[in-house]
Amino acid sequence: MEQNIIISNLNDFIFCPRSIYFHKLYSSFDEALYHTTYQTKGRHAHKTVDKQKYSTKKAILEGINVYSEELGVSGKIDLFDVEKGILTERKNKIKKLYEGYYLQIYAQYFCLVEMGYVVKKIRFHSLSDNKIHDVALPGNNEKHRLKEIITKMKLFSLEDKNFTQNPNKCKMCIYKELCDYYKGDQTC
Ligand code: SF4
Repeated sequence: MEQNIIISNLNDFIFCPRSIYFHKLYSSFDEALYHTTYQTKGRHAHKTVDKQKYSTKKAILEGINVYSEELGVSGKIDLFDVEKGILTERKNKIKKLYEGYYLQIYAQYFCLVEMGYVVKKIRFHSLSDNKIHDVALPGNNEKHRLKEIITKMKLFSLEDKNFTQNPNKCKMCIYKELCDYYKGDQTC
């Protein structure tokens, strides 16, 4: 795998390492062909960010590129209020805060800090129910975990003989019809 890890892939990798390959392979195809309704809604939630239309206030950075040399990651942040030091990652609907979500926002945080910004608060915004989920700022333990996952991402291969799929995840996976490990309604 390429050495520079894309921040948004952290969540995919935590869900299933193999999904990153399908994501890359099919990223040039029409997403509607394989995205579930839920994920399509999530994509729409980020459209304003991708097009940088959310706010005209100069104190709000929207969808800007960030990078951390120390971690070897790059990607985009969602919203960062420079004056208040608040980093916000919006999701269409948050039912549960998964580890992948945390790693994503931690990576964004470390990138901003390395780039010289003062980040005082990080949070998720669940759009459909308008709920804010505040997250404690990451420290050394969280950075260590992030580095551990990034190293695993760099080392992972589709030929990895130690890989075992999680049947419950396979059933929810948008790439299941493309993946050799999915066995239909039977357990994978
Ligand atoms: S079908 Fe299962 S093994 Fe294949 S990418 Fe999806 S979650 Fe991973």
